[in-house]
Amino acid sequence: MRSKLVEIFGAERVLTEPDELHEFHDDYTELDGQEPAAVVFPTTTEEIVALVKLAGELGASITPRVANTNVGGLAVAAAGGIIADLTRMNRIIEVDADEMFAIIEPGVTQQQLKDYLVDHDLPLTLGYSLAPPHVSVLANSLLDGLTNRSLKYGSMSQWISGLEVVLGDGSTLLTGSWSIRGIGPFARAPMPDLTGMFTSFQGTTGIVTKLVFQLWPKHPIEQRLFILGYTAQGVFKVVQKLCRLEICEDIGGLSWPSGKMMMGVQHPNPVPDPDEPKWFLYVDLAAERDEELAYKVGLLNEVLDEQRAAGERFEEPLDINMLIKVNPAMGAFAEFPTELEFLTDHGGGGLSWMGTYGPLSRFAATSDVCCELMVKHGFAPAIVSRPMRGGHFGVLRFLVTFDKSSPEEVEKVRAVMRDLLEAVTEAGFAMYKTPAWALDWLKDRIDPGALEMIRRVKALTDPKGILNPGKWDL
Ligand SMILES: Cc1cc2nc3c(=O)[nH]c(=O)nc-3n(C[C@H](O)[C@H](O)[C@H](O)COP(=O)(O)OP(=O)(O)OC[C@H]3O[C@@H](n4cnc5c(N)ncnc54)[C@H](O)[C@@H]3O)c2cc1C
Repeated sequence: MRSKLVEIFGAERVLTEPDELHEFHDDYTELDGQEPAAVVFPTTTEEIVALVKLAGELGASITPRVANTNVGGLAVAAAGGIIADLTRMNRIIEVDADEMFAIIEPGVTQQQLKDYLVDHDLPLTLGYSLAPPHVSVLANSLLDGLTNRSLKYGSMSQWISGLEVVLGDGSTLLTGSWSIRGIGPFARAPMPDLTGMFTSFQGTTGIVTKLVFQLWPKHPIEQRLFILGYTAQGVFKVVQKLCRLEICEDIGGLSWPSGKMMMGVQHPNPVPDPDEPKWFLYVDLAAERDEELAYKVGLLNEVLDEQRAAGERFEEPLDINMLIKVNPAMGAFAEFPTELEFLTDHGGGGLSWMGTYGPLSRFAATSDVCCELMVKHGFAPAIVSRPMRGGHFGVLRFLVTFDKSSPEEVEKVRAVMRDLLEAVTEAGFAMYKTPAWALDWLKDRIDPGALEMIRRVKALTDPKGILNPGKWDL
């Protein structure tokens, strides 16, 4: 295999030595790793086409990967497989400021695209996830991830206007308006929506080589406010009301352990002190003029007062800059993208979560049930949440950090994740970025017609079954 890969990539861009491959064998999670047989570093679509054709001949699988931060084992290779590390395919091909889109390759990172917009003085922004600055914008768009623009615009796959894709037989296609020769990549409409055959499929239906990604206006005045609340019920009532007012750029809810971890407490108490706030709410506001911002802050305070009158307790909103003066650790939350070291650099190396999308009206009850469950398993109930697409749905994400070298801790994480999956599904929430073990549990609950269509899409796009096997494997 090595000599054939070297013919395509040259010796310098092919790794096959065991000690070089080991670095690529696992990710942050409790899931089992797997050494790949080779790692290659493509730089062009043509090289990916050649790789796919070769893999088909050899019967080897390909796992596309960029930063490997998906927290679900989704970029871990199958046995005997090849990892296509796409970090060197990192060109920003075009930014059209008039039409508000960027055409980018898989290795373009959140930080890189931000720097481009800032350096070119463009009044545009992208949505930033809370993932590290070096993660791929393209991979998170394909995975239907969420960012600080998701309240307004939904999950990231909805911001894709078009794709260039290499299929499992080495053929290529374009999706969206782009697919009509001479017409620009301004939207998915009005073509049949082939883009959906590649989103949330975890690289199992095609290797995407270009993404047309929607950008959003950046307003000159921005303010991030933190509000401390004392019950999930009260906090999510405020979230729902703010969604209906359409005055916020982003709203996030952090349960007390995640809020405290952000402030530098490494092991927060699983059970809160009754006098402590139970939820930290952050609200991003933006405006063209000071009066507009003042008006929005006024409305926010009215919503809080209404809830106080109904018996809920909230502290006064605090500006993030004020909080940073009191606790410099809050600086990590001042500017996105950011490195949340309390999740990725805590000594034990392990991070896992149950990430779910579900109905906003069930956030309070579901978070309370899952908090109890996490405490029962010995974990501080760290939750990160956000309403999305105007409040039509939202994210509830239950996080654990752990010591990867301890088999007992790994087993504890597996047990809590299994119980959380059952609890959230029962509550009407759907897991996203679904790892293989969870999909196995969920597949009996998927409509048989949908299941059959997913299988047919896979067979059509990847007839030899070589693209990222084991993920979305039904
Ligand atoms: C601390 C932390 C915070 C996070 N916060 C968030 C958050 O707020 N919101 C959020 O959405 N996510 C979050 N994440 C999750 C994660 O960062 C995203 O899933 C990430 O953006 C994926 O990018 P990546 O470069 O790591 O992709 P990888 O993990 O390398 O790949 C992800 C998947 O995409 C596939 N893939 C990669 N490239 C291609 C391609 N070119 N064509 C087809 N398939 C491909 C891979 O095979 C894999 O299945 C967080 C992660 C961490 C560690």
